[in-house]
Amino acid sequence: MKKLLASALLCSSFVSPPVFATAPPIEQQKQVAGYYQYQSGDVQITALLDGTNFMSPTLFKDIPQKQVHEILKKYYADQDKGVQTSVNAFLVNTGKSLVLVDSGAASCFGAHLGSVLSNLKASGYKPEQVDTILLTHLHPDHVCGISKDGKANFPNATVYVSQDEANYWLNPKQAEKIPQEKRAGYLSTVEKIKAALAPYQAKQRFKTFKLGDDIQGFKVINTAGHTPGHFSYELKTNAETVVFIGDIVHSHTVQFDRPETSIEYDIDPKQAVQTRLKQFADFAKHGQTIAAPHLPFPGMGHIYSADGKSYQWIPVHFKD
Ligand SMILES: [Zn+2]
Repeated sequence: MKKLLASALLCSSFVSPPVFATAPPIEQQKQVAGYYQYQSGDVQITALLDGTNFMSPTLFKDIPQKQVHEILKKYYADQDKGVQTSVNAFLVNTGKSLVLVDSGAASCFGAHLGSVLSNLKASGYKPEQVDTILLTHLHPDHVCGISKDGKANFPNATVYVSQDEANYWLNPKQAEKIPQEKRAGYLSTVEKIKAALAPYQAKQRFKTFKLGDDIQGFKVINTAGHTPGHFSYELKTNAETVVFIGDIVHSHTVQFDRPETSIEYDIDPKQAVQTRLKQFADFAKHGQTIAAPHLPFPGMGHIYSADGKSYQWIPVHFKD
């Protein structure tokens, strides 16, 4: 026994003793998986977080920077890194069909985005179950998530986008019409779009629609401006009307207080503002439930207006 104790002491003398003077810090934990289940009558909508982005306040147009900062301050949103923005996608289980509306950025914009696929799996659904993908437009933060390294992430899905949008990005003649200073940016975006769509096109699973069409019970709404063929999708459930608005708005602060403020990403800023004003007025009047890719996750809620000029974002209340 004595011998054992002696050898134990000997062993421990080789290990440097721990310092107990100050307690080690308690390790901070990660945010939970980014999905949120929303029940709309019989239909389940799963909001999927792709990640968090930070936008420069200088991207807002037609508004003095001083006013931008005043609004951000009011919302406690003025941050050193920039204006915090979510990138969201939505999975809709209608009972007959599993529809993904937009798909996140995958690796097109860096490692801070690209979690739609892992969050979809974490939510309990399987990528093979998705039969329809509705894209509001073809910007990389909406289309890149459908594929990875030339393979379809959703092997049984058919991808839909408007005919106008497909024409703007996929018609080779279009490049000549883009102003010289914007052409390089346009062409690099086109490359990303083509890579994402290729595996679906190879299997004839890429389709376009026009105004008046209906896809799996979703009505298409022309909301052009942000891009030339931008569309929103309306779904009537047995409880309410839900509108998947796409990029008619990028900020729950500046563009709600001052909806006539466009953003650098808008291809036709004037039309984008007109679309937002028209849609916001309609949503404030009729109270549709809104699902938005760039409002704070889960990006679902309602739009309220006290005066018909400025608006307020009313997020859904957490429900378990
Ligand atoms: Zn976007």
